[in-house]
Amino acid sequence: MPTEWQLRREICDIGRHVHERGLVAGTDGNISVRLSDDRFLISPSGTCLGMLKPDELTIMDQNGMALNGSQKPSSERWMHLAAYARRPDVMAAIHAHPPTTIALTVAGVAMSQCALPEVIISFGQVPVTDYATPATEEGAVAVRELIRQHDALILDRHGSLTVGKSPTDALFKLEKLEHGAQVLFMAHQLGRVRDLPPEEIAKLAALREQFGLGRAEDVASECIPPGTPIPRITRGPETY
Ligand SMILES: [Zn+2]
Repeated sequence: MPTEWQLRREICDIGRHVHERGLVAGTDGNISVRLSDDRFLISPSGTCLGMLKPDELTIMDQNGMALNGSQKPSSERWMHLAAYARRPDVMAAIHAHPPTTIALTVAGVAMSQCALPEVIISFGQVPVTDYATPATEEGAVAVRELIRQHDALILDRHGSLTVGKSPTDALFKLEKLEHGAQVLFMAHQLGRVRDLPPEEIAKLAALREQFGLGRAEDVASECIPPGTPIPRITRGPETY
């Protein structure tokens, strides 16, 4: 288990990366880590993720009350706490504003759940939450059911929530989500998005399970009709 100081350093490193990659702007976005069942480390309100210092982070309890630290916990703490309350396996969460992901929701373009193999293997599917006023408890209401089954959520007109076993894991999911949105955006510009056929998606669903990333049934039913057989994938070379 990493020490609290190592987690503080990791949050700052990830914050810098998120800011430099343009996944947030200014003081947007927030990162948190579970220290125990009732203590969470979180970036403070009104600070830039790209300029965080380890001793600036705030510790809050499961009700969002600051336990120490000179600054207020992030105004999006309710969303983070909703994720921790419903997912005992989650150790870290990142809320960011990935621009292409947001643009798809503003334009009302659904992120195809059946087109990109890496997205299907990693996430199964990426749902879009109802719109919620940023920095309010509405954010927690919007995510609290969907986060039970999904590691990445798109927040309508607002951004993303990704969760994982560490801040780095949550960052990789955020990057994968935004990269998938960029590819789909470009495909839309080119005029066509071709979905994979169900039998190919069944193989990706099988790999998702075999890699321990989640369940085959996490894949959207619009991509793989119920009853489609899930094959066993052999990944070793059978012929040369
Ligand atoms: Zn936000």
